[in-house]
Amino acid sequence: MDVFFSDIPAEGLHLEGEFPKSIFDLDPADPIRPTGPVRYEADVYAFDEVVAVAGRLQGPFQLQCGACLEYFDHEADFPAWSAELDREPGQQSFDLETLIREEFLLLLPSHPRCDEMVPGRVCPKAELVEEHLDDLADEAPQQGPGVWDALDQWKQ
Ligand SMILES: [Zn+2]
Repeated sequence: MDVFFSDIPAEGLHLEGEFPKSIFDLDPADPIRPTGPVRYEADVYAFDEVVAVAGRLQGPFQLQCGACLEYFDHEADFPAWSAELDREPGQQSFDLETLIREEFLLLLPSHPRCDEMVPGRVCPKAELVEEHLDDLADEAPQQGPGVWDALDQWKQ
């Protein structure tokens, strides 16, 4: 779905709707499986060099647990999503569908744990993974404070 820059007024353009799950076109073995249409709300602002988009993304997915590899249902909801696109010289429009597909894939957790995301769920492989992580922690040097400072700043 192309959004033309010439259609975006100075006060911004409000768009909302749904895209079918087929926009994802992922391999069945992918750890992310969309299970229904995804909904979007987007306020689009066009500047000289960038297009800024802000809104909400929601949709039903199955995600693969990084520990037990089982798929679990997850209702994704990103209430304050935003993105920026660079405007190339001569570019007249951008494809909203592609943007929203990429944003979902970026925002969904890449190594989710079923027991962290499903209330009451006990991951059958949790203990194995924790033992493995303990082993790794014993071997690996402690991470310096720099990493966490950077993370904290990023979260704000
Ligand atoms: Zn699990």
